[in-house]
Amino acid sequence: MESTSLGSQQRGRLDFPGMDQAKHGQAQSDQAFNKAFIALGSNMGDRISMIEKACRAMESDGDIRVLRTSNLWETEPMYVKDQDRFLNGACEIETSLSPIQLLDKLQDIERRLDRKKVIDKGPRTIDLDILLYGNVCVSEPRLTIPHPLMREREFVLRPLCEMTPGAVLPSAGSETLSEYLAKLEPVSSDAISTMTPLSSTLPPVTALRRNRPTHAMAIMNMTPDSFSDGGALQSNGSKFDVEGDDARFSANLEAVKRVVSETVEEGCTILDIGGQSTRPNAPEVSDVEEVNRVLSAIQLIRSMPEAAKVAISVDTYRASVAERSIQAGAHFINDVSGGIMDPELLPTVAKLGCTICLMHMRGTPQTMMKLTEYQDGVVAGVAEELKERIRAAEAAGIRRWRIILDPGFGFAKTYEQNLELLRRFDELRAWPGLEGFPWLIGTSRKGFVGKASGTKDAKMRNEPTIVTTAAAVQGGADIVRLHPERGMMAPVRMADAIWRY
Ligand code: ADP
Ligand code: MG
Repeated sequence: MESTSLGSQQRGRLDFPGMDQAKHGQAQSDQAFNKAFIALGSNMGDRISMIEKACRAMESDGDIRVLRTSNLWETEPMYVKDQDRFLNGACEIETSLSPIQLLDKLQDIERRLDRKKVIDKGPRTIDLDILLYGNVCVSEPRLTIPHPLMREREFVLRPLCEMTPGAVLPSAGSETLSEYLAKLEPVSSDAISTMTPLSSTLPPVTALRRNRPTHAMAIMNMTPDSFSDGGALQSNGSKFDVEGDDARFSANLEAVKRVVSETVEEGCTILDIGGQSTRPNAPEVSDVEEVNRVLSAIQLIRSMPEAAKVAISVDTYRASVAERSIQAGAHFINDVSGGIMDPELLPTVAKLGCTICLMHMRGTPQTMMKLTEYQDGVVAGVAEELKERIRAAEAAGIRRWRIILDPGFGFAKTYEQNLELLRRFDELRAWPGLEGFPWLIGTSRKGFVGKASGTKDAKMRNEPTIVTTAAAVQGGADIVRLHPERGMMAPVRMADAIWRY
């Protein structure tokens, strides 16, 4: 395609043949919106927060909309070696701005976010480059599109290939972006990883670093209907598949306090607060009731000195509960329905800007155990359906680096399917389109663990759960969800010593 020299005037759609002409609401329906890819980079300060601020700043005037993002990849610096690791990503945008107007806007955002003077190719809090703008080529003193160095930069191609691997550069031959990436010298697996933030106090999860420590997430269900004797953890004796998921303890806050202290002392780094059981056929509680249960626990934990050492997640599928929880100081949302059960959940999480764990399930807790047909097998089924949930989350405005995945053991899976999923978990992690995401694995005391080990009583299933935990770590889990117990971290530490070296 011929090179175009673009002035700063607005270009209409006829200037950009072959480009998407998506519309941005009715008020602006006379404007053409073009698609472009922007590189996002930072290697100073709170890098994730800088990149998130830049994305929000892009969207602040309504002339740019971020359609989707790549993961954020941490890489070694390429040109000036004596500086901190870079965090790189990319996003696809839709914009009414011309290429040069877009550059002006991005440079203005850089200036506003970048308070320190920096050397060329050296440390910077934020770097926003235009990689592609539709099929347009630009060659001007201030602006070259496609970005001149993108073909040699693994840290540019990798995130771009997450979004558009088959794209062909308008200026060059017929090679696709993924072919360019494949031709670059392979980076060692320890030199590159994605990053997913859990909370402001914990380091982000680096899902591709072999030596990352596995997080233990303690299950804390605030269900007052089964008061126990002063806070001892109890499991109920229901006969359903996820029965082990329903360990309950007294909503008596003194007891909660004691459990929090003990679990944090054990080395557990995430507390998962639930106010509504999701085991099959569990009665639904009202959202007011759920909020009350969850908020009292969050407020209590936040008042304890241990709070600095843990991330608080909230196990809910309700947008209203998610919003109130994050406002009260919880850090991320753990939704067993992956955003299906409440259509407001994903947009709410996008607005809150927090991380979300998307779990695979089908139907509702009432119907899920009848929905266990997987045409291409359970691994492919879970992978493809999770990809659909990721797309939905991105469409709602959730950034890709804010997503954790969970295969959903015990949810719409048979006994054999649960075992196969655990056995082949490494395949799921490496599934095309799912590479680089962190995974949460919850098997603790679940029905399939009871059945395989011949342990009827859910509270006697700690030993077989040690084995499923080890298998999860071996398969690549980043977070294992466990019932809080004395000694709960010992199997995790042992498995880490073997696999996370
Ligand atoms: P880096 O090359 O590491 O991105 P800078 O962000 O400091 O370094 O950019 C240097 C110059 O590159 C800017 O002044 C800008 O005008 C010019 N430039 C040329 N093409 C592009 C592009 N596609 N996107 C962003 N900047 C570009
Ligand atoms: Mg730049």
